[in-house]
Amino acid sequence: MAQRTAHPAKRVGVIGGGQLAWMMGPAAQKLGLELVVQTPRDTDPAVAIAQATVFASVADAAATATLAAQCDVITFENEFIDRQGLQSLADGGTVFCPGLDLLSLVLDKRHQREFFAQIGLPNPRFACLDADASDADLLAKAEAIGFPLVMKTRRLGYDGQGTTVVQTPSDLSATWARFNHAPVLLEEFVPFKQELAIMVARSAQGNVAVYPTVETQQVNQICRRVFAPARVRAGVSSRMEGIARTLAEELDLVGILGIECFLTESDRILINEIAPRTHNSGHYTLDACETSQFEQQLRAVSDRPLGPTALTCPQAVMVNLLGLEEDEATHHQRLEALKQLPNATLYWYTKGLRPGRKLGHITQRLGPRDDPAAAAAAIETLWYGT
Ligand code: ADP
Repeated sequence: MAQRTAHPAKRVGVIGGGQLAWMMGPAAQKLGLELVVQTPRDTDPAVAIAQATVFASVADAAATATLAAQCDVITFENEFIDRQGLQSLADGGTVFCPGLDLLSLVLDKRHQREFFAQIGLPNPRFACLDADASDADLLAKAEAIGFPLVMKTRRLGYDGQGTTVVQTPSDLSATWARFNHAPVLLEEFVPFKQELAIMVARSAQGNVAVYPTVETQQVNQICRRVFAPARVRAGVSSRMEGIARTLAEELDLVGILGIECFLTESDRILINEIAPRTHNSGHYTLDACETSQFEQQLRAVSDRPLGPTALTCPQAVMVNLLGLEEDEATHHQRLEALKQLPNATLYWYTKGLRPGRKLGHITQRLGPRDDPAAAAAAIETLWYGT
């Protein structure tokens, strides 16, 4: 392998075989691409849509060498990779899109924050605490930020695991002990009025395509629902678009990037984090945009022209279907009820049931006068019963 042998690429390797890779399937077929997936288990969702699978963990760089031997280019649905291990493959000519420098930046929340600050993008105030810091260091840094504050593991956090709000100085040491004294970030708690997200794609030629700004709402720090477009002033959307373009350029992105932000009462935008892949906040694009985020990622990494990103309906709502504390039959009954909703498309990832696990999502296309919050509430009543 693995200089880019075909233009545009024909076989795309995907590191990670969860639902994000699974949702690339129809787009790959449309573009005439073959997907080869690296994922540990034969029950992982994307195994069903892949032309071939390398069964190994996403951090197994030796397995990625096997993947590379079968592909023109490698992209990611999961960023928890072995950066050092992949470097020797890149040095030997394997093409990774996005590049490994971008992957290593997002692997560490500290590096993300420092990068945003360096390029002049607005961050929450933050401080870093190393594993060998004393309780006195912890207290001093925390007091400089102020309470409440947010403590986050620098690495490997997802869906709010590794993110805790600390209300008072007396909770500090116990909270850090629960993090096993790992290196953490201390951040000001942002009393946001909304959380916003935006997807941006960029091609190797430097063309950029930006999706509409959406509003995300989390429950217990996990994304529960997304409203597209975000109900914000036009100036907020255009600043979000500016942030997306700046990040895509500064990161020399080739692929797709999800950006999550906080919007304060005074309409300040602060960046929370970025993910160099398709993102839960972009699932609505499958049914409500001219080009889905999955097709766009494949277009960008396989050297095809980017597609248009406009909404194809006035608005849309996406609700995540998390595993319930119920038996399998109840999950299926509720899925049947959701299937009756008008203008809605259900995605069921066929993963093992576990309470709280992201098992699927549903997107409903809405008219100009529909109330998106009421639409989300109706969906959630059918699924969660509340
Ligand atoms: P993860 O990387 O696990 O997704 P995040 O850092 O995105 O974790 O945090 C998950 C959620 O926690 C965010 O969507 C937001 O609701 C809340 N959160 C995170 N950081 C802050 C902060 N500094 N201020 C207020 N809320 C926050």
